[in-house]
Amino acid sequence: MTTITVAYGDGIGPEIMEATLRILKEAKADITVESIEVGEGVYNRGFLSGISQDSLHTIKRNKVFLKSPITTPQGGGYKSLNVNIRKAFGLYANVRPCKSFYPYVGTKHPNLNLTIIRENEEDVYAGVEYRQTRNLYQSLKIITRIGCERIIRFAFEYAKKNERKKVTCLSKDNIMKFTDGIFHKVFDEISANYPDIANEHYIVDIGAARIATVPEQFDVIVTSNLYGDIVSDIAAEAVGSVGLAGSANIGDEIAMFEAVHGSAPKMAGKDSANPSGLLNAAIMMLAHIGQEEIADKISSAWLKTLEDGVHTSDIYQKGLSKAKVGTNGFANAVIENLGAKPKQLVSEKYHSIGTITTSAVKKAQQEKKVLVGVDVFIDLLEDDVEKIAQRVESIADGELKLHLISRKGLKIWPSEDTFTPKVLGDHWRLRFMSREKGAPTSHDEVVYLINKIQKTGIDFIQVVNLYTFDSTQGFALAHGE
Ligand code: NAP
Repeated sequence: MTTITVAYGDGIGPEIMEATLRILKEAKADITVESIEVGEGVYNRGFLSGISQDSLHTIKRNKVFLKSPITTPQGGGYKSLNVNIRKAFGLYANVRPCKSFYPYVGTKHPNLNLTIIRENEEDVYAGVEYRQTRNLYQSLKIITRIGCERIIRFAFEYAKKNERKKVTCLSKDNIMKFTDGIFHKVFDEISANYPDIANEHYIVDIGAARIATVPEQFDVIVTSNLYGDIVSDIAAEAVGSVGLAGSANIGDEIAMFEAVHGSAPKMAGKDSANPSGLLNAAIMMLAHIGQEEIADKISSAWLKTLEDGVHTSDIYQKGLSKAKVGTNGFANAVIENLGAKPKQLVSEKYHSIGTITTSAVKKAQQEKKVLVGVDVFIDLLEDDVEKIAQRVESIADGELKLHLISRKGLKIWPSEDTFTPKVLGDHWRLRFMSREKGAPTSHDEVVYLINKIQKTGIDFIQVVNLYTFDSTQGFALAHGE
């Protein structure tokens, strides 16, 4: 018997959870349920992340969490409950299978059957954001080698265990050569260890376009957090209804399962929501805790119900569907079908992935790291870059010399280009390098330089050291550098 934590959530959450748990009970799933409260009510009691410490402890103790959607209040310093739980428990992999159920559910893509594996903890979702000047706002995109290795290895292990044929990587490494570059590089390294599984890479923009138009070309997709968020909604929409898909958020110890849709407040209390998304999440959960047979039994009954034409309003098609039912009516039909098999639709067997081990950090620690310069970002309202250069060059009398000035990544000093327009700005990057090309420098030299800048009264807002790693530059060149 496995104890699972359950949250009924907001909006349509309680109705679809009751329907789902009823089906699990009738299918004789070997579970007991411990309920916690998350979402609107908890936010309103002043918990900015929508969950109390006690509830977090319950999730930690039981390790398996089935969650209904919640309503996230806008503004007011409220934090996303999902992001909070993913981070608190290291749920690094978001697994979202998307499959068409044609002809029983209308879709433009009858053969769609893909799984999106999205990195869940890193990227701009780290939430490290700043307002640095009166004009400029910044968000840090954080990507680690270990995070890439773990999610990409997870994707290939998922493909292997679930008998998938191909893994596609999506990144934007033509633009973000370091952050997306490492994601693509690690993908190439790891894919070489799986010769039986095909692999390919798409730049995310054309990849997203293809998911929207020819999703049947894809099998397993692995990508970073923000791109994964976007393309998984595109894929879910292509299936026919957001009410169908479930997803899993997997960590080394703890896992959370939920529907992909939100709390649909307008539908709440009307007994009309489709409980299938949460039910499919629960099916993945049962496989995860080793109850594959029960998972398969429920999945078959659910598919049979779709084939019988017993449909909730979101997937009801005139002439094809036989009965329009509500949340409870749909659950009753699934329960009646327990033990029956679908005729045409195929039940997907979800296989859980064990702990993924990585060697990335140890390997990376052996690289030789040398300090070779520093970028100093300043807040200074100015339209003449020459004036800034003169002011800074005159005080940089140590080992570090002003190498360039850039705005929004574009080198504008020194410039041979006499057409460069004078643009008023308050955010400038001053790049300093050793006077002797490529020579190492020291933290003392950086501190000396910053002291000098401070004495001029210029507001330095960010200092980023520039390193080489095994003689390879660890910083992007400015455009035009
Ligand atoms: P949503 O709740 O997913 O609803 C969008 C629309 O999708 C609904 O209006 C409804 O369409 C349809 N829909 C969603 N679930 C359905 C179901 N089970 N059966 C049938 N139709 C379904 O998205 P939203 O309106 O953008 O967000 C509402 C709230 O949910 C927000 O507070 C958001 O922050 C939250 N949210 C929570 C989660 C989560 O907890 N994991 C995820 C996403 C959003 P029709 O109106 O056309 O019938």
